Amino acid sequence: MKNKIKSVKGTYDLLPSEIYKWQEVENKLRSIFSLYNFLEIRTPIFEKSKLFSRSVGEFTDIVNKEMYSFLDKGKESLTLRPELTASVVRSYIEHNFQQISSIHKLWYYGPLFRQEKPQSGRYRQFYQFGAEIFGSAYPESDVELIDLAYTIYTKLGLKKWTLYINTLGKKENRNKYIGVLKESMLPYKDQLCKNCKNRFDKNILRLFDCKNRQCKKVMNEHAPLIINHLSVEEKDYFEEVKFILDKLNIKYEVDPTMVRGLDYYTNTIFEVRSENLGSQDALCGGGRYDNLVEDLGGNSTPAVGFAAGMERLLIAMEKEKLFKNESDKLDIFIAPMNENVRKKAIQIVKEIRYSGYSVDMDFQRRSVKAMMREANRKNAKYSIVIGENELQSGEINIKNMDSGKMETVKIDKINDFLST
Ligand code: AMP
Repeated sequence: MKNKIKSVKGTYDLLPSEIYKWQEVENKLRSIFSLYNFLEIRTPIFEKSKLFSRSVGEFTDIVNKEMYSFLDKGKESLTLRPELTASVVRSYIEHNFQQISSIHKLWYYGPLFRQEKPQSGRYRQFYQFGAEIFGSAYPESDVELIDLAYTIYTKLGLKKWTLYINTLGKKENRNKYIGVLKESMLPYKDQLCKNCKNRFDKNILRLFDCKNRQCKKVMNEHAPLIINHLSVEEKDYFEEVKFILDKLNIKYEVDPTMVRGLDYYTNTIFEVRSENLGSQDALCGGGRYDNLVEDLGGNSTPAVGFAAGMERLLIAMEKEKLFKNESDKLDIFIAPMNENVRKKAIQIVKEIRYSGYSVDMDFQRRSVKAMMREANRKNAKYSIVIGENELQSGEINIKNMDSGKMETVKIDKINDFLST
């Protein structure tokens, strides 16, 4: 038996039969980002490991157990990026963006890597698009980003999703709240699942994310909500975000138990969840992170951003039947009948391509019948069979593959025919 090599667990191939859906979404994303005047940034696939431990947080699931890290030949620990905000912030600092302008609106798109347990909607290599605004400490910028995400899902035609928002306050108050939460939950620690017991000391906010029924019940009954532990200023900030969202007619729900997994958030956080995705329902998540640029060695810069998964978006769009069948992309298929005409056919193919039409031809020297089957399979709009007679007369028959209608056209007038 041949020993075939398979793809790595949690990864997948995007085959030509599927990729048109991705391209359709990617094109729409690009045009929406440009409507909002966000500029694209591309950073490397791998970074120094400490970038992620310092930004995402030592005790988060991502850093603790999901990173693909390795030592390079210089014995430096590098990591395949598990998220993109940290990389964009690193780049922002490294290239002194702040000196160029006091505000920057950036977007990105690319693959990320996390060693999670694969399931539908959760992969080890997956794609995210996202956006960040650096340089505004005002609620308008939170709303600019939320509106951007909202517009993306709306313009893509998705119906079954909801936008959730919450606030985590600033670091000082959040840390005080974490103390209160620990104290309140300590008497119930024994009733929590093993995972929550482990998270209790180092990342207690994540107890709100646990899907275990018993943990949910204990949290519902006994956990204080962060909103009740914030300052007037933090509450006002959140009120202003909601006020502008209302003005823009953006529908949202406040989820007072939403915490998001990463350490760096401050004040507003938000998530878009699909009603079509089962347990992996988050389409996108983000929030404000006013300390991260400074924590990573830059000047203090307020910032807000979001990241969104492509695979889950595609699954949700499939479920809502938002993709048409692949449109036919091939204008003409050319079928040379024998050796003598093949060389001339190759020339004709090239000439028509250069005038802007997509053309393919037979490369396997097959029978006319087999070549016509191929033209059909390739969804060509027209086919042309070229034989000795055609070469001598300088005229060919163009067949409309839908109607079967034939038209005779001079070889040097094929372009004129196609453009009418
Ligand atoms: P996060 O960076 O964890 O906030 O994730 C942002 C978005 O990326 C999520 O809402 C998902 O849509 C997507 N995502 C996160 N992890 C994965 C994964 N392992 N596989 C596929 N999509 C993911």
